[in-house]
Amino acid sequence: MKILICDSLNEKVLKELQAIGDCIDISSSHTKNEDLDEKIEDAEIVVIRSGTTLDKAIIEKGKSLKIIARCGVGVDNIDVDYAKSQNIFVTNSPSANLISVVELTVALIISAARKINLADKHLKEGKWNRKEFVGIELSGKQLGIIGFGKAGKLVSERMKAFGMSIAFYDPYIKDWNGSEKKLELDELLTSSDIVSIHVIKTKETENLISREKLDLLKENAILINTSRGGVLDEGYLIELLKSKKIFGAGLDVYSEEPPKKIDTFSDLNLISTPHIGASTSEAQLKAGLDTVENIKKIMDGDTTVVI
Ligand code: NAD
Repeated sequence: MKILICDSLNEKVLKELQAIGDCIDISSSHTKNEDLDEKIEDAEIVVIRSGTTLDKAIIEKGKSLKIIARCGVGVDNIDVDYAKSQNIFVTNSPSANLISVVELTVALIISAARKINLADKHLKEGKWNRKEFVGIELSGKQLGIIGFGKAGKLVSERMKAFGMSIAFYDPYIKDWNGSEKKLELDELLTSSDIVSIHVIKTKETENLISREKLDLLKENAILINTSRGGVLDEGYLIELLKSKKIFGAGLDVYSEEPPKKIDTFSDLNLISTPHIGASTSEAQLKAGLDTVENIKKIMDGDTTVVI
């Protein structure tokens, strides 16, 4: 088996893959795109994380391609329909990154509520004006979760420990009888103190939190997005922060990565991280080992792990 590794993987995972087949690792190549174009031609398995896009044009070049293994959850960087039409199996590891992205979400909520990024910068510039850093308490406030799936539910469990009440919007959850309030999207946006987005990216969720929806946020609201870029109008969110129409925001994902207008982010109560939700050693190891297992299963004829 010829295995093409496009994004960096944990050492232990690399060893496991080497036991399955001949591995070519282009993850740290300076000419990765050209290498991908060339090396995919005879690869039978391609392993990627979020740093590689496999669109129709590139998949077409993989004449021997049998398996695309996404080490992580999101498959919006793969043309899954086209891959399927070519009888290529696509597999991912939906749960491995979960705890890491949930913990980053909690960190962004707390940081935005207490302006930790601005306060840290302030002190390091030799200043000591504490009046600039009046924050917001979380206790007694409403957290509104958009997309109440695996990540959304775990964030909600953690934030309850801070004394927050939970509301959610998820049209795919019917007949809810849990303690969390199920709301329509507009109602959630107008009533929540903190809004955190945890949807998967689909045609339906593209620009779900548009300019019009952002205008519904409360005056002192905080908005967090650790799901996927493109589900939120970031440009307008920055405008709202600049005009102090909302209190703060935390972003880990962007419609374009890396985002171009990053210079406009400074001095705002916006904690912006470079898509590091899954970047913990634990998550990377778990996702990598899941990926190896998935590949072995597919090779043994078990397609239960295929998307
Ligand atoms: P999940 O599939 O368990 O949950 C997604 C939820 O969104 C589901 O409950 C679904 O019903 C809901 N949903 C779908 N369409 C919707 C719509 N139009 N409106 C509202 N809700 C809708 O996924 P998950 O494992 O919880 O992951 C959530 C997101 O986190 C994904 O986008 C994933 O890619 C992202 N993620 C990001 C990182 C990172 O590095 N920042 C790491 C891991 C996961």
